[in-house]
Amino acid sequence: MERALPTQQKDAEATGELNGLFDAMMRKPGGRPGQAPPTSSSSSCSVTESWREVRTRSVEDNEMSLPSLATAYTSILRGLGEDPQRQGLLKTPRRAATAMQFFTKGYQEKIIDVMNDAIFDEDHDEMVIVKDIDMFSMCEHHLVPIFGRVHIGYLPDKRVLGLSKLARIVEIYSRRLQVQERLTKQIAVAITEALKPAGVGVVIEATHMCMVMRGVQKMNSKTVTSTMLGVFREDPKTRDEFLTLIRG
Ligand SMILES: [Zn+2]
Repeated sequence: MERALPTQQKDAEATGELNGLFDAMMRKPGGRPGQAPPTSSSSSCSVTESWREVRTRSVEDNEMSLPSLATAYTSILRGLGEDPQRQGLLKTPRRAATAMQFFTKGYQEKIIDVMNDAIFDEDHDEMVIVKDIDMFSMCEHHLVPIFGRVHIGYLPDKRVLGLSKLARIVEIYSRRLQVQERLTKQIAVAITEALKPAGVGVVIEATHMCMVMRGVQKMNSKTVTSTMLGVFREDPKTRDEFLTLIRG
């Protein structure tokens, strides 16, 4: 099993293999640099802005770009040594183009639309956890799938989000070209900005086809990333509760 370090720690600590993400976190309670609110970190600037971002693609854009995308896939087929004119491939460029638009349909949505009408004032101060959210994404380095599960927890501060919306946030960010670390952080930041909760934790366990298809020894490898914000980052007890609950 290969595991990535929690993204927040990545720079400060070697990215070497650990026995496990959870072990690593247990060993370093509170050992992280002081909490950097997402808005003050330059590296997360684009992340926070993306919450109110404009759509980068519309349904009309899809229709307009479909022919050129299909032409590009024809070139790819030729470049692979295939004959785009053979029977089985005749419709492939257009099909592939349509499929790729679907795989990246997160560009057609923005988080703020999901949040509308879904944030409720509630005097609930217990941890909210939704685990095992299916996730399908595309590696931006190889344009092949990343798939896995997302676990989200947050500690509300007077505001809660409709539960199904957590899965929708995952969907919007995962249906784009991604790296797992950024995806993890984007989800956590979006929830933080929407709810201003006491804390948020996001853990993603995923399989990268670019890894498993290129080496038998990596067949079953999974990459685990996590982002912990607020009390999930500062308070080992809160973090442990979250990690225990998502494992159970
Ligand atoms: Zn890749």
